[in-house]
Amino acid sequence: MALIVQKFGGTSVGSVERIEHVADKVASFRRHGHDVVVVVSAMSGETNRLIGLAQAIQEHPTPRELDVLVATGEQVTTALLCMALHKREVAARSYNGGQVRILTDDAHTKARIQHIDDHNMRTDLDAGRVVVVAGFQGVDEHGNITTLGRGGSDTTAVALAAALKADECQIYTDVDGVYTTDPRVVDGARRLEKITFEEMLEMASMGSKVLQIRAVEFAGKYAVPLRVLSSFEEGPGTLITLEEDTGMEAPAIAGIAFNRDEAKLTVLGVPDTPGVAYQILGPIGEANIEVDVILQNIGEQAKTDFTFTVARGDLARAEAILRDTAAALSASEVRADPRIAKVSVVGVGMRSHAGVASRMFKALAEVGVNIQMISTSEIKISVIIEEKYLELAVRTLHSAFELDVEPEDQTAKAV
Ligand code: ADP
Ligand code: ASP
Ligand code: MG
Repeated sequence: MALIVQKFGGTSVGSVERIEHVADKVASFRRHGHDVVVVVSAMSGETNRLIGLAQAIQEHPTPRELDVLVATGEQVTTALLCMALHKREVAARSYNGGQVRILTDDAHTKARIQHIDDHNMRTDLDAGRVVVVAGFQGVDEHGNITTLGRGGSDTTAVALAAALKADECQIYTDVDGVYTTDPRVVDGARRLEKITFEEMLEMASMGSKVLQIRAVEFAGKYAVPLRVLSSFEEGPGTLITLEEDTGMEAPAIAGIAFNRDEAKLTVLGVPDTPGVAYQILGPIGEANIEVDVILQNIGEQAKTDFTFTVARGDLARAEAILRDTAAALSASEVRADPRIAKVSVVGVGMRSHAGVASRMFKALAEVGVNIQMISTSEIKISVIIEEKYLELAVRTLHSAFELDVEPEDQTAKAV
């Protein structure tokens, strides 16, 4: 008998029929004698619908009220799932974040979990009840409702699994595991049997939304056994593991991630003197705008060009700040470009395989994709390119690194 935390995403609970299907699944685990804690998302489209309602009234609603509004979506699903379980004669109780007491900080719309009280959940589990918890939400120390950022139900599930020391945290979604890249973009994308936490973290932070970044961080930190599976079909899914495959045949690259949510800002002709990078990026940071990739070029006559990327939603604000800085620095020009995207190849195998970067750049050159910026870490290489080439670039890299080929076939090919 195991203690399992199961999370069902928006599509998996997108209609009454699908909620009934989830109830069948949960009931079956329960009948096999497992203790089950279920975390649910809002029905698909619901969170967007609620945000739309808010924005029809105010472009920038107060974050506290936005959280009160969007947290309702998950609450609806908890009640419906409990009803479906009761219909199957499975004892179950619903909880919202405050009722469990998922304590967070007060950073509305992007709160971080600080503590989870497992008392109520344990009492129910001991009494043989399934515990159904609303994902994506918590309360701050004053009892205000908070939410954890888009995709945050994954984080709720992993955090509950850590708090309860669950045997496994299962993330049920609309794909049957983690793929070498988004299977909606590349037909030949292949399900991975397993992927390391480190790789999954890079994939998530480089734009693969199959798992929320914080969920992966949490799972790595507390060594929560984590698996991504399909709600709709049986199968082993993908295990996120601490073990690294260090064998000779281990592939250099685990997968390809991409992100359209990027925009580029360039300031031309700033003085090439100490402190300039700080003068440019300091005010951006103070405005709470995150900077991603940075590039600085020495130009002519001790002038430099400075380029950086931000999330697309922050572009207008960042551009306004940069124009003020540019004027103060007597820079010659500011350019803004929202039509860029980032493509990243990710893999711990990069540490032991030389030539990953050149293989990547060669493949992109062969299909005429111009690289605007490059950034690297120990286990990933990212390039910024024009957005219209994004899908071409992802498909090209996917085959250049032979990700569409099963690992055994790859070895056969290499020999
Ligand atoms: P849920 O609503 O269940 O949380 P999400 O839409 O957040 O589901 O995440 C699942 C989606 O993630 C898939 O439908 C797929 O399009 C996308 N995705 C992006 N990259 C990957 C990847 N590498 N492997 C699997 N799915 C991916
Ligand atoms: N419902 C929230 C969202 O759409 C949280 C989640 O589904 O994980 O972002
Ligand atoms: Mg999700």
